[in-house]
Amino acid sequence: MLVRIIGGSGGVCPGHFATSYLIDGTLLIDAGSCANGIQIDEQAKIDNILISHPHLDHIKDLAFICDNCFGMKGKPFEVHTNKTISDSISKYLLNDVIWPDFTKLPTQQNPTIRFNEIEVEKKIKLGDYTITAIPVNHPCDAIGFIIERGNSAIVFTQDTAPTEKIWKFAKQTENVKAIFTEVSFPNSLKQVAVDSQHHTPDSMKEEILKMPPSVPIFLGHLKPNFHSKLYEEIALIGSDRVTILGTNDQTFVF
Ligand SMILES: [Zn+2]
Ligand SMILES: [Zn+2]
Repeated sequence: MLVRIIGGSGGVCPGHFATSYLIDGTLLIDAGSCANGIQIDEQAKIDNILISHPHLDHIKDLAFICDNCFGMKGKPFEVHTNKTISDSISKYLLNDVIWPDFTKLPTQQNPTIRFNEIEVEKKIKLGDYTITAIPVNHPCDAIGFIIERGNSAIVFTQDTAPTEKIWKFAKQTENVKAIFTEVSFPNSLKQVAVDSQHHTPDSMKEEILKMPPSVPIFLGHLKPNFHSKLYEEIALIGSDRVTILGTNDQTFVF
């Protein structure tokens, strides 16, 4: 699988793009920067979109790709997520107030975007991919994903506090080649991280012990205003498995 990190940041400012990972050009995880991070013809090639939770930095570009690609695809963007999350997006974003309801445009029968409900902890097939959504510890029934294709699997959980279940599922999955997860706040903001259900470098050091051994770990969602402190503190984790996701467009092959 070719994983392109369109945006791996925990904030939005010049040079920092919010969470959007594009797999093989067609499967998107989260819509934080897929409208301003890639060209419109690349946006139109996205078939399926997995959404981890409805916080703005993970969904905002659903609004803009619908606008950018209107009438270009001949089929809808198929969004796969749980009902709590899709209901929140419908109620608060695509609600004909904040933004047009593109699930009914140009027509309800032929929409620009369509929600597909996924049941957690059950494998679903999307083309060549097998996807399992697993609950994580973050507001609004947030989920992470295990994505399998051929002889590779990757584990994606962005926003989450310390969690258990996804690591159990990951350990039962063969051929896990990479884990993508998050560190948002420096250790001095531990209570903020606890209250907002995110990680600090210290909590990530403990979390790594629950993960499948020897698999490379990619840390994203760093808050841009704490970047230099976070780089220092993540280095102190002392694991050669850890790579920090930079802010530029990066591609990995697994
Ligand atoms: Zn969040
Ligand atoms: Zn976030």
